[in-house]
Amino acid sequence: MYNKNAWSKYEGKALDELMQFNEGYKKFISYGKTERLCVKEAIEIASKYGFKDIKEFNKLNPGDKVYVTNRGKNICAFVIGDEPMEKGINILGAHIDSPRLDLKQNPLYEDTDFSLLDTHYYGGIVKYQWVARPLALHGVIYKKDGTEILVNIGENENDPVFVISDLLPHLAAEKNSKPGNKVIEGEGLDITFSSIPLKDEDKKAVKENVLKILEDNYKINEEDFVSAEIEVTPAGPARDLGLDRSMVLGYGHDDRVCAYTSLMAVLDAGKCKYTTCAFLVDKEEIGSVGATGAQSDWFEDVLAEIMNLTGDYSELKLRHCFSKSRMLSSDVSAGFDPLYKGVFEQKNAAYCSKGIVFNKYTGSRGKSGCNDADPKFLAQIRNIMDENDINYQTAELGKVDVGGGGTIAYILGNKNMYVVDAGVSILSMHAPCEIVSKVDVYEAYKAYVAFVKFAKEVE
Ligand code: MN
Ligand code: MN
Repeated sequence: MYNKNAWSKYEGKALDELMQFNEGYKKFISYGKTERLCVKEAIEIASKYGFKDIKEFNKLNPGDKVYVTNRGKNICAFVIGDEPMEKGINILGAHIDSPRLDLKQNPLYEDTDFSLLDTHYYGGIVKYQWVARPLALHGVIYKKDGTEILVNIGENENDPVFVISDLLPHLAAEKNSKPGNKVIEGEGLDITFSSIPLKDEDKKAVKENVLKILEDNYKINEEDFVSAEIEVTPAGPARDLGLDRSMVLGYGHDDRVCAYTSLMAVLDAGKCKYTTCAFLVDKEEIGSVGATGAQSDWFEDVLAEIMNLTGDYSELKLRHCFSKSRMLSSDVSAGFDPLYKGVFEQKNAAYCSKGIVFNKYTGSRGKSGCNDADPKFLAQIRNIMDENDINYQTAELGKVDVGGGGTIAYILGNKNMYVVDAGVSILSMHAPCEIVSKVDVYEAYKAYVAFVKFAKEVE
């Protein structure tokens, strides 16, 4: 069903299932505040479905459920299909990194009776949205001997939280007359960390005291920040939004909403004709670079390993697998916002509650940098959506000359794969709390299930 509000389909048991699915999603993002935590949780969920680490296999057969991870920040879950992988596989690829603040390598300092932590923002944040709100710290610290210390402070009700202070309006006349991108600047995003000084010390006593707390409670010293990855995220769980509880307000919908629905689709679809894969990557928000981004050779290596374990690997077959595979680049779209009508072209905008959004292309100002999906592939997908009673819509990101953005679609497109962007429309994208419609979350999940079950070779 093209361009129709999807809520009218749901009542009784179907509505209960939709709401129940969203409870699972809320749990996933409330815990999965970082890419590492998303991978951990994905392993836990997949294990319940009988998926096992690739290390436990020396051969793979149709129906086998296997996952592969990379540096704790990527995961690929596969169900081996009946057809050889050379005929292509059906892939759902989403990213699990979200815009946030990272602690710098040398973050801790003292100023006028406070200790503070210096940050470097990650991805396209709107800086003024990050002040004066409760924040949590998540991540890992590695000691020189390799000991891993997990950091998770601010999510538990009894935990302390952190904050970036803001200036009172009474004294902010000059600050508030600046343009939005200058009101708060990157170097102004420092976290208030502590304020009690160490007794009998006068210089840097607050910093010394907080270092003592870190030593006593976490066995870490100041230099250990050098080998740490600590992310600052909004504190607290995702919540129902709206009097009718029709939406979810939460941090990291971009793109964990597509990651969760993609993962669950592969898990629930079970064995299909073609091998299915949920591919969850890191670093999309900063250009998909590095070892754990979509541009890494890792995914290609994984496909080679999986093919090899099915007993059907050659370099040429791997290349065929790439050029024949079908993929949905599961990523969010900018939902039409009645408060900001002016930036959208209303015939080609994504609307909340109208189901999964397909973007033939993303890019900006002349489709720059986009993957422009094959129309023949889109025709197949339209058919799959209609056959399976899925609400879907098509959109582009705002008016032609206004702006733009990208996803991981072009990266797999560069491998000659059939790829199109497909995901959930969201409001307040990249804000510390973003908005999705529950019906879109569920329709995306159902669309992904239908895709991995029924997508086939594009003739
Ligand atoms: Mn995204
Ligand atoms: Mn994004």
